[in-house]
Amino acid sequence: MKVPLLDLTAQYASIRDEIDAALAEVVTSQRFILGAVVEACEAAIARYTGSAFGIGVSSGTDALLVALMAEDIGPGDEVVTTPFSFFATAGVIARVGATPVFVDIDPVTLNLDPGRVADSVTKRTCAIIPVHIFGQMADMAPIMEIARSHGLVVIEDAAQAIGAEHAGKRAGSIGDYGCFSFFPSKNLGGFGDGGMVVTHDAARAERVRALRVHGEGVKYHHRVVGGNFRLDALQASVVRAKLPHLDGWSDARRANAALYSRLLGDLAVREPSLLTLPGIVTDRHVFNQYVVRVADRDRVREELTSAGIGTAIYYPLPLHLQECFAELGYLRGDLPETERAADRAIALPIYPELTTDQVRTVADALRGALAGLA
Ligand SMILES: *Cc1c(COP(=O)(O)O)cnc(C)c1O
Repeated sequence: MKVPLLDLTAQYASIRDEIDAALAEVVTSQRFILGAVVEACEAAIARYTGSAFGIGVSSGTDALLVALMAEDIGPGDEVVTTPFSFFATAGVIARVGATPVFVDIDPVTLNLDPGRVADSVTKRTCAIIPVHIFGQMADMAPIMEIARSHGLVVIEDAAQAIGAEHAGKRAGSIGDYGCFSFFPSKNLGGFGDGGMVVTHDAARAERVRALRVHGEGVKYHHRVVGGNFRLDALQASVVRAKLPHLDGWSDARRANAALYSRLLGDLAVREPSLLTLPGIVTDRHVFNQYVVRVADRDRVREELTSAGIGTAIYYPLPLHLQECFAELGYLRGDLPETERAADRAIALPIYPELTTDQVRTVADALRGALAGLA
């Protein structure tokens, strides 16, 4: 039995009529840029994530970028973030001319370690970007406390975590900005690129709204320089049509994760040096990815590949060791928890439409590959 890492065709097949109708509505209207469909999508995402305002943007990357721009963060400013994330999290900091400051992760959750965040704040620090990695929220309470006591802006990178929840709050609704991605492989994926910024603050919403159309206030009058960061109506129509299904899909991901835990838990307890399962410490992890850590990861991956099982490595090279950040001066060994996670992490199939048999097949193949190492 082949098990792909992700199969988007299964999801589309299950709601094809709704999606096709939503797309047809936009095509019929010929209203492709902003407009009513985008506004309805913004309102729906704001409501779903527990924020007052939603501003549709061109991608998750641009959501992060425009939030930094809205705070006038630039050269001379430092932004504290995690080195264990997709590149965009740090890339946007460098793009506005600011300096990313990487802080090591908590080895249980693989999220930013708040204890180390406090130590990394300097006079130049302007913002913190916590990432809710793989669909589980970072430890936001202490991060917010540090931010408030130093007057720092918090931008949540919630690209992998729409619908994740802890202590009654949803991902993206705690910081000053929440940033989401509708990249097709995210839990709420469009048919291309798209993203959203959410915020509780009307003035911030207004700034982001202007920045996404070249900083325009009154038509053809520009107080600031922005960009073309708009969410297009076709993507908004797909996202809006999918949103009512999101909780069901997230529950299915959680059920698949629970099944992996049942099938692999004994091995992880007996042989912690061979296998570490995801550490779940929040109320609602939405499992955009199910990432285990294993010994001899590259060999395990090869065996799974030959067994017809799709996997991925998130992320093989931590951000502090990327060539483009060489001048920041980080060396291997500086952030040991992150580097260890990067050496051992492997993502297994977790998408909602997986069958129980497929999950069992993956778990059996993983046990087999790890038995070869013992
Ligand atoms: C996907 C992702 C992004 C970027 O989103 P795009 O829509 O691909 O630009 C940013 N941060 C994280 C953690 C992501 O997973």
